[in-house]
Amino acid sequence: MDTTLVEIMKQIDGYRQEAIGLETQLTRIPALGPESGGDGERDKAAFVQDWVRQHLQPDDLQEYRAPDARVSYGYRPNIVAMFNGHADKRTIWIMTHLDVVPPGDLSKWTGDPWTVRVVDNKLLGRGVEDNQQGLVSSVLAVKAYRDLKIAPQNNVGLVFVADEETGSQYGIQYLLNEHRHLFSREDIILIPDAGDTKGTMIEVAEKSILWLRFHTQGKQTHGSVPEHGRNAHKAASYLTVRLETLYKKFNKRDPMFSPPISTFEPTKREANVPNVNTIPGEDVLYFDCRILPNYKITEVMKAVKALRRETEKKFKVKIAISFSQHDQAAPPTLPDAPVVQVITKAMKDLRKKRPKPMGIGGGTVAAYFRRAGFPAAVWSTMAETAHSPDEYCLIENILDDAKIFAHIFSQRL
Ligand SMILES: [Zn+2]
Repeated sequence: MDTTLVEIMKQIDGYRQEAIGLETQLTRIPALGPESGGDGERDKAAFVQDWVRQHLQPDDLQEYRAPDARVSYGYRPNIVAMFNGHADKRTIWIMTHLDVVPPGDLSKWTGDPWTVRVVDNKLLGRGVEDNQQGLVSSVLAVKAYRDLKIAPQNNVGLVFVADEETGSQYGIQYLLNEHRHLFSREDIILIPDAGDTKGTMIEVAEKSILWLRFHTQGKQTHGSVPEHGRNAHKAASYLTVRLETLYKKFNKRDPMFSPPISTFEPTKREANVPNVNTIPGEDVLYFDCRILPNYKITEVMKAVKALRRETEKKFKVKIAISFSQHDQAAPPTLPDAPVVQVITKAMKDLRKKRPKPMGIGGGTVAAYFRRAGFPAAVWSTMAETAHSPDEYCLIENILDDAKIFAHIFSQRL
């Protein structure tokens, strides 16, 4: 590592109090979307803008307002802060989100969720990990350069979005639909919103999600005379077992994913008749399928419908299929994409570890970038307590991840 970089790392080591202070101030401003009974992210966004303006002197700072009549002021704030590097080619983007999820059952918390508590080397509070850890790491990485009056090699863009927890329509989806010119295909897009405890997982791909509801209609009758009815429960159970054959039919493996296969699992089943001696005329059951991206959801549906027909014929029932979720996976970010390379290089230099590009079961915000043609990756070092009571983050993870970001800002690309 060159001497400037060593200096920058040392500078970040001195930001422990800044990290605690920022987390405390951010946690005090609950930013809940209207779906979660809140009034959006405006106050938290204003705090972040002021802090960035004052401490980081950005070369450009913009707020992009996604109109949303459900909040009292009519929009959801998305903030983009730019810092010029001296190579002036690619931009390293770090995107984090401002919104948090509600605290849930307060009796499961050991203190007020909106007041940060420092316990040993942990910070406790709603949002401290998801996603303020990444947010604070990203601003402290830039602060080190500003405080030392060093220009980063690459341009740096910090993005703070709204509405990540409830669909991203007013957050990154809005930015990508209305202000796509902000990003270029050569840029590096990093989203520190998930990861493992060692920072050895780089999420680059996800499976397609298919949630199915099967509503079987037969004919209800007395338990003693099954021949007078058509047992919907029995038909649905047959179908459940037959659907197990999807594992054989769609059996490709991809070692990048854990598990490395597509999965097709029966999950919820709705209550039917309340008594033992009635043969149910109706049955509702659900499947949760996570499908490797090289299969099309439509292919799977074709196979599902064939099994439905077989079941309908055999039991003389009607089975209606509906979707409660249905999302073809975005094209994966390649395991050797520049974003993967820069994280890998920083991890080797700073932690002597080699992270692995991996796929997950489905549903991260990086998919919006990937669908828009930008190879984004999700990476961070996390305690993995997001959304739970007594959510916490390790102070050292905030600073250590800030160092990884700072390292990337100065890599020659
Ligand atoms: Zn998050």
